[in-house]
Amino acid sequence: MVAYHKQTTDEVMKKLNVSNQGLYNYDVLKRQEVNGYNQLIEGKRTSTLAVFFGQFKDLLVIILMVAAVISFLLGEVESTIVILVVIILNAILGTVQHVKAEQSLDKLKALASSVAKVMRNKQIIEIPSKDIVVGDLLYLDAGDYINADGRLLASYNLHVNESSLTGESLAVAKNTDPIRKDRITTGDKKNMVFTGGFVTNGRGIVIVTAIGMDTEIGKIANLMDTAKEKKTPLQVSLDQFGEKLALGITLICLGIFLIDLFRGRALGDSFMFAVSLAVAAIPEALSSIVTIVLAFGTQKMAKENAIIRKLYAVESLGSVSVICSDKTGTLTENKMIALQVYVDQRVVPYDQLHTENKVEKNLLLKAVLCNDALERDEKEIGDPTEIALVKLGKHYGFDELRVRNRYPRIAEIPFNSDRKLMSTVNHFEQKNILITKGALDVLLNRIVKIETSNGTLPMTDEQRKKIEAINRGFSMNGLRVLAIAYKEVRANQIIDERIEQDLIFVGLIAMMDPPRKETKEAVESCINAGIKPVMITGDHKLTATAIAKEIGLLNDPSEAIEGHDIEGLTDEQLQELVENISVYARVTPEQKIRIVKAWQEKGNVVAMTGDGVNDGPALKQANIGVAMGMTGTEVAKDASAMILTDDNFSTIVKAISNGRSLYTNIKNAILFLLSGNAGAIFVVLYATILGLSVPFAPVHLLFINLLTDSLPAIAIGLEPHNKNAMKDKPRNIHTPLLNKAFTTQVILEGLLIAIATIIAFEVGLATGDTLTASTMAFATLCLSRLVHGFNSRSKESIFTIGLFSNIYTWVAFLLGVLSLHVVLFIPSLTGVFEVATLNSAQLSLIYCLSVMPFFVNQWYKLLFVRSK
Ligand code: ATP
Repeated sequence: MVAYHKQTTDEVMKKLNVSNQGLYNYDVLKRQEVNGYNQLIEGKRTSTLAVFFGQFKDLLVIILMVAAVISFLLGEVESTIVILVVIILNAILGTVQHVKAEQSLDKLKALASSVAKVMRNKQIIEIPSKDIVVGDLLYLDAGDYINADGRLLASYNLHVNESSLTGESLAVAKNTDPIRKDRITTGDKKNMVFTGGFVTNGRGIVIVTAIGMDTEIGKIANLMDTAKEKKTPLQVSLDQFGEKLALGITLICLGIFLIDLFRGRALGDSFMFAVSLAVAAIPEALSSIVTIVLAFGTQKMAKENAIIRKLYAVESLGSVSVICSDKTGTLTENKMIALQVYVDQRVVPYDQLHTENKVEKNLLLKAVLCNDALERDEKEIGDPTEIALVKLGKHYGFDELRVRNRYPRIAEIPFNSDRKLMSTVNHFEQKNILITKGALDVLLNRIVKIETSNGTLPMTDEQRKKIEAINRGFSMNGLRVLAIAYKEVRANQIIDERIEQDLIFVGLIAMMDPPRKETKEAVESCINAGIKPVMITGDHKLTATAIAKEIGLLNDPSEAIEGHDIEGLTDEQLQELVENISVYARVTPEQKIRIVKAWQEKGNVVAMTGDGVNDGPALKQANIGVAMGMTGTEVAKDASAMILTDDNFSTIVKAISNGRSLYTNIKNAILFLLSGNAGAIFVVLYATILGLSVPFAPVHLLFINLLTDSLPAIAIGLEPHNKNAMKDKPRNIHTPLLNKAFTTQVILEGLLIAIATIIAFEVGLATGDTLTASTMAFATLCLSRLVHGFNSRSKESIFTIGLFSNIYTWVAFLLGVLSLHVVLFIPSLTGVFEVATLNSAQLSLIYCLSVMPFFVNQWYKLLFVRSK
């Protein structure tokens, strides 16, 4: 083990054979061959074969296997074969579903995986963090996750939170000095950073010393938790419901078994029948249908720019009643353009400045120097606010690279949205000048003088008022305003936040960030859907109010307040207030959390956007934390349940609409499963209570279970998303899926299917033998369930939503119908499936009866369900 912390930066660079131009591609490949990828090895994935065998662990399958053995012992080899085929087909289906769902979730994970900035081939580029190699020069900014261990080469006030590694919750200041001590803990290695930490403040450059399992955390973790996706609340409640239902059905089957025995039926037959009924009636696919529907649904959402990181979010999305959104970049374009400037005591349009005027030139130069953005070959790199300043400078011939070379930066205090300030110290012909830019309200009190072409004047109250009035005027027009000030500092002065005092004001630059064109419509759609959109921004109140008005988010200026206005309020008072507030300006991350909590206390489900390093806790507090994919920090992404790849507010609204549709689809799939199963149970109960012959052979029930259960249910789950989803109010998250109305619907629809089947059975008994009767009952139950699949697609009539708008339901239907006819008509199979040959009258009756529940259902929907 090399003790990198003891070495100087030059020694480390030499040891790892890296120049300050970074690694070259061929070198990266070689290093990757030696050390592999930068990944923590996860616990072993279950192989497809293991998933397949896992299907046999299910209690129902075990019962079926026992049944197969018993029927073999009873000499019913055909039944044994059928049961085995059913079990194997079921297992294959289960495996395919599992693997498919896992694949789509994997794809999703890859989309949301973390990235890192490294210097390669002399350029800073972004790479997936798994591609980092030992020797890479890693560039760290506030909000970045650290994905490798490394030795600091440069630190600009770099502070790292290493709590995941050391338990210490305070951020640690990092520096580059070698530490010669021998015995030293990880937490004390102030010149190194470690995987798992994140940058809370400042910037730094690090040379990577260890990756993957060689990192400190890799050594501790050894085998990482597979980070298995936890079951969603819906799945958990369905599992619980499924267990209760299974118990109920098992009891019914036990009763039927005993009655059969009592009536003198053979033990083996009674047992087989009871088991098959249990298998047919217990909806074993409940929770796996949720998984597969959610997995496929998230694929669609990813295509529409919303990456789901936590599956539970999809369910909660449908219940969102409040969206707290950032302004810049989410509601607006985040394409800043400087429009007006206040300099040398007057307001000047951006294109009418004169560089001969010393103050105007000074403002332009300082705006470009206290700035990290770059514009090269039409490519813009950096914060849009700063890009606007770079462009303004260029307009007057101040190329940012040339200016920055001429007046080199020797220190900096990076921007952070809590301070709303950024400072640099630049070397200006023998002098060191501190340049500070930021929000005027933060800067104004730190200003003591004002620069004019008549010299530097003291800052009077009158001047102060004038500047404030100008700032207000800009803000009321929706412009973002930055103030620029400076002062001379001594060469050996310590550069930290305390130095940003006694400054000389140079000017204000006001820039425009127009709302995204789709925002207004999305806000309106939210309001129509009973969702309250709320703007929470770090920007000035007047700027925020102007934009909020333009997009229809605010009607009255009294709906806008500033973060500090809620400081003195108790939680109860805040809860009272939130309903009437649409815009919060100058908000700190702590205040964001309070606002989210206040809404939640009032019973709301809150989606909240965030991008900064300090937004993590608020994102976690929200029911759905939404991170910005383009401008968001890695920390914010990590804390979120959903990432917007386009940072766009309207994408959240689209995701909510998708979430609502997906929930409805899942509900419909479950309705289909339960009502069909209820139908089967009702028929058997009817025959048992009346003492009729058995309506189904065990093999019928197994066949029905295989063909009319999961395939049509999944097809219903894949129903195209409902265009009217945003016309309803949000779903109350506390209303259980399986409420009274739902249960009534299950029973009524089950009864319809049962009635059709019983009629077929009775006609069969009256006109033929018991085999004919049970064949007719079997065919009617099977077919009516398949047709019922179309009913379950929507609460509206299928003729309203379009007969062919979900092609999957047709595939499932036709496959089922085809299989049923194969069984009914192929002579060699009739024996195995215990079916009689039916005549055309009997067949016609089966067809008519099977569509009866469909027509009743559709007639009801056409008459009583209002289309929106
Ligand atoms: P939102 O929370 O809606 O994204 P925002 O992006 O406007 O809001 P911040 O980025 O936190 O909020 O900016 C807050 C304030 O800080 C701005 O109003 C501006 O005055 C100042 N500011 C923004 N960017 C910079 C920067 N690069 N340098 C100095 N000051 C800045």
